[in-house]
Amino acid sequence: MGVIRVAVIGAGAAGLSSARHLIADPARFTCTVFEQTGAVGGTWVYTDQVGTDEFGLPVHSSMYKSLRTNLPKEVMGFPDYPIPEQERSYLPAKDILQFLNDYADHFHVRERVRFYHHVKSVTPKADGGWTVVTVDLKSKQLQTEEFDAVMVCNGHYSKPFLPTLPGADVFQGQTLHSHDYRTPDAFKGRNVVVIGAGPSGMDLCLEVARGGAASVILSHHWPEPIKTRFPDNVRQAPDVARMTERGVDFVDGTSAPCDLVFYCTGYLYTFPFLSDECRVRVVDNHVQPLYKHLVHIDYPTLALVGLPFYVCANSLFDLQARFFLRTLTGQVALPSRQEMLADTEREMDLRRAKGMKRRQAHMMGPMQVRSFSSAKFIRFTGRPGRVNRGVLHYKL
Ligand code: FAD
Repeated sequence: MGVIRVAVIGAGAAGLSSARHLIADPARFTCTVFEQTGAVGGTWVYTDQVGTDEFGLPVHSSMYKSLRTNLPKEVMGFPDYPIPEQERSYLPAKDILQFLNDYADHFHVRERVRFYHHVKSVTPKADGGWTVVTVDLKSKQLQTEEFDAVMVCNGHYSKPFLPTLPGADVFQGQTLHSHDYRTPDAFKGRNVVVIGAGPSGMDLCLEVARGGAASVILSHHWPEPIKTRFPDNVRQAPDVARMTERGVDFVDGTSAPCDLVFYCTGYLYTFPFLSDECRVRVVDNHVQPLYKHLVHIDYPTLALVGLPFYVCANSLFDLQARFFLRTLTGQVALPSRQEMLADTEREMDLRRAKGMKRRQAHMMGPMQVRSFSSAKFIRFTGRPGRVNRGVLHYKL
């Protein structure tokens, strides 16, 4: 077998980890990383910009200025490159960015990255392998190259999911998705309704309440009110049924005035550069047809790295990269197409039996541990002085 040419799309944590393992085996692999921005670190690269960047591309990062991690550093390192020992556990975003830069340098990944190269299309070749078209954003030059395998590491916290709410067209106030949130300045004196109480909703509800909002209503469909110490200007409400000209109505029949609806409603998987021939389908945020949430069942030289959420991300990326590379070299034999499809269907059946919705197809949490049913949980108390952002921690 000759050297396997692999394209990695994106130089966030998933792309860095993929490249790190490719570089480690030069006898088997060559590696080219395409990154559309000028930096490594992906979503951890904070920018004041929202909307589009200087090249007209949608701003990728969803990082807000004050963010600190919602996982302790002890589970945020890579298996072979932990976050250095220090007193704090919950680090500011800039420290994670520095850590990813250090990782890239330590494993000599940076020299493999083609910065300011935006991947425009990925298409399977008739005789196997892939055609990748990129544009050099600075020179505007298009380039077409061929690879034997592609690792898609484009991140999944960039394209906002915005629910369609009745009355949105008559609402006279402002709306904002957490993707475009940077600081609480615009919330001062406003009556805010935060929609969604996932990690971002919980964190940002507190931030805008403390940052000077007149009132904050946290609207969510958790079965019970969330038990935490909210500031006095925060209260909880059920889902929003509709928006009105100057407020919102909730599903329990109550109403509230509102001049800023803050969508903390999550993100959509999107792969705009995968051509139709790749046959990747995203239905209700379930990406298919994938084996183990990673390997394309019909094109096993295409991997979509980093889809699972509620995970120890960097450990997962590392594991996914090592697994995929072993399938490429033949050290791990993939099951037949039928068996991969059946395996995936079995897992979906298990998820359905647990009451999980389709949009939770890639949600891990307890499923990260070896046995789903025997997973043992520890709920932890969160950072001192901060809310527990609803993250479940589990014994690994
Ligand atoms: P990204 O970091 O998004 O990187 C993707 C890269 O691909 C980017 O650099 C992008 O520019 C590039 N790219 C995309 N499309 C193209 C293209 N067409 N051509 C070329 N390049 C492209 N995780 C935790 O473990 N702990 C936390 O506390 C935590 N907090 C978070 C808070 C926020 C607000 C967000 C948004 C996420 C948080 N996460 C957290 C999750 C975090 O996103 C993952 O841990 C991880 O960093 C994602 O890495 P990634 O490489 O998959 O994606």
